[in-house]
Amino acid sequence: MKETREEARFIGRPAKVVQMEPAMVVEWPRTFIHRHTYGKLTPFFKGLQEGRLLATRCKNPKCPENRLWLPARADCPDCLQPMAWEEIPQPVIGTIYTYTRVAYGGMGLEISEPYWQIDVELEGVCTIFKGWLKYGEPKIGMKVRAQFQDVPTNTILNIYWVPHDG
Ligand SMILES: [Zn+2]
Repeated sequence: MKETREEARFIGRPAKVVQMEPAMVVEWPRTFIHRHTYGKLTPFFKGLQEGRLLATRCKNPKCPENRLWLPARADCPDCLQPMAWEEIPQPVIGTIYTYTRVAYGGMGLEISEPYWQIDVELEGVCTIFKGWLKYGEPKIGMKVRAQFQDVPTNTILNIYWVPHDG
């Protein structure tokens, strides 16, 4: 009878040696898959896939905040009651509230640098929605229009903004 034994083994790929002198340096790519649930915010991300911007509004008539929230909140931050979904009418036109130039983004950023990160004010929305300007030079008070990726990213990056002329 053949004896079987459990044996741990190396299952990676040898790291690439990029230099030996004056010290050994290897290139050792690290990667991971992050599985993330959108939970109760699934309608927001499904909307982005379909080129629609969905926000939430508190259903409680006694709530002190009856404007829309964006990004959407599943439950009201003020009274903790469930929110109702509403679509922002198309075309989605907003106003640049403020902006910043991103020269060096964080690891894993999926927007080419440099780019303009813009904060967009939308009528009837109580929050300022963060986003990115695809092209053009932002100015405070400038009108921008929401656009959606042709091939959905299935993340918040699916929505972006372009200057709205007229
Ligand atoms: Zn509320």
